[in-house]
Amino acid sequence: MSDATSGGYFASGPCAFCQLVFTFNPERVPSIPANAYAAAEIIAEGGETPPLGPKVPICADCLAKINALRMQHDLAPITPLPGAYDVGEGFPP
Ligand SMILES: [Zn+2]
Repeated sequence: MSDATSGGYFASGPCAFCQLVFTFNPERVPSIPANAYAAAEIIAEGGETPPLGPKVPICADCLAKINALRMQHDLAPITPLPGAYDVGEGFPP
């Protein structure tokens, strides 16, 4: 599903984590490979890294949760690029 009324390039789809459909700029939104968890399990069990699947986006709410966890583990938070979630704003004309 997509909407081009603003002339911007954006899309909507389910979040990688909570499955809620949200709208995002696919060039800017943080994302993970669809099979990231399965791949991590295979690697953890000593297997070869499998081909990674298509990227799936992460919604702002889940990104906030991920960042809270990252900071608990002394990892730098993921900062979404400007406009990642602000569909129709901040696009060049
Ligand atoms: Zn989410």
